[in-house]
Amino acid sequence: MDLSLDLDAFALARDAADPLARFRSEFLIPTHRGQDMHYFCGNSLGLQPRGAQRAIAEELNAWATNAVEGHFCGERPWMHYQSALRDSMARVVGALPSEVVVMNSLTVNLHLLMASFYRPTKERPAILIEAGSFPSDRHATASQVQFHGFDLETDLIELQPDGPGGTISMAAIERVLEEHGHRIALVLWPGVQYRTGQAFDLAAITKMAHAKGCMVGFDLAHAVGNLPLALHDSGADFAAWCTYKYLNSGPGAVAGAFVHELHARRPDLPRLAGWWGHRAETRFLMAPEFDPADGAEGWQQSNPPILAMASIRASLELFDAATMPALRAKSLELTGYLESLVRKHLEGVIEILTPAEPTQRGCQLSLRVIGGRERGRALFEYLADNGVLGDWREPDVIRISPAPLYNRHTDVLAAVRGIRDWAST
Ligand SMILES: *Cc1c(COP(=O)(O)O)cnc(C)c1O
Repeated sequence: MDLSLDLDAFALARDAADPLARFRSEFLIPTHRGQDMHYFCGNSLGLQPRGAQRAIAEELNAWATNAVEGHFCGERPWMHYQSALRDSMARVVGALPSEVVVMNSLTVNLHLLMASFYRPTKERPAILIEAGSFPSDRHATASQVQFHGFDLETDLIELQPDGPGGTISMAAIERVLEEHGHRIALVLWPGVQYRTGQAFDLAAITKMAHAKGCMVGFDLAHAVGNLPLALHDSGADFAAWCTYKYLNSGPGAVAGAFVHELHARRPDLPRLAGWWGHRAETRFLMAPEFDPADGAEGWQQSNPPILAMASIRASLELFDAATMPALRAKSLELTGYLESLVRKHLEGVIEILTPAEPTQRGCQLSLRVIGGRERGRALFEYLADNGVLGDWREPDVIRISPAPLYNRHTDVLAAVRGIRDWAST
């Protein structure tokens, strides 16, 4: 075993010097054979903040105590519950509060936003996505193309990866926009690609696509809470994200959406409306005409599920306290540490698919297990048996995502040691 005691000393010292170390104790860490699990699945389902149970209990309590009056009284009247969340959420994504709304789920939000921002014409019918996108994004865009009566063969353009590890270069995006931009109505792009962990420059993509007259939306499922974002400055038309991954808000938690300020007061934009999107001041006059609220809130449909929103409040309190720049600083160190250990100790066992350039990734490294699917599965199961939980992507990839809110250098070392032990048996 060549992973010596020096390495333990180093990892323990880095953890002791970590200014965000206290946040780990704000989470419930699952155990494996009585020990804290080394949990690297924050890209799939973030851990439960200790505050979540209390936050939900408070709203159950408000319901018990105040019943219908809870909409207007108590510490957090339900009428305004969403607006209280959106300020913190806006900080996480780098947007104006009025550009952000917490509602629905991710795929639903993509559809609702495409209803407004994907307006295909005969001359300009197409959507551009990345090949190998998350299935829901492909289903959503494909069904939108078909819903408008256009042809998947020609009007869903899927850009093939051209870089190492299945990554996509900016040059490839530029080329496809050069060639097809005049036919593209909408570019829907990931902030961080779920399979490779590649992070994209949202502002650069927006600029290139806008220059060709395309609308631009981002799916930030793997970017939000992972990287600092500057959604407003990026100029993107819209974005959507879920909150159960790096935002730790619980399984199927309510999602987020962004609509750029440029579209804030455009009642002319077609939308699939509901009463909660109506201007709050006059909503309860219950008039038949729809007068949309300014900003992203004008895309709401229903009154929000307060019990489900409560866990988001608990989670965002932690992001407000930790702040994205500090989380990013720790994340760069933690993922850089993982990368250096893999390169030093796992040569011939693991190939890293995620870009080596830190500006082109978040916390996740996608590790391809050399030797094919069976070896990959065997390693994945060995790790799980030994309390190291990453997540599996067919056919041979294990994603390891050290989340700076709760992961430590010692977790990363345990993961690399686990792989090393398996490889040397
Ligand atoms: C996680 C994820 C989804 C999941 O969609 P839901 O509507 O929340 O079930 C969709 N797209 C991407 C890119 C994801 O990473």
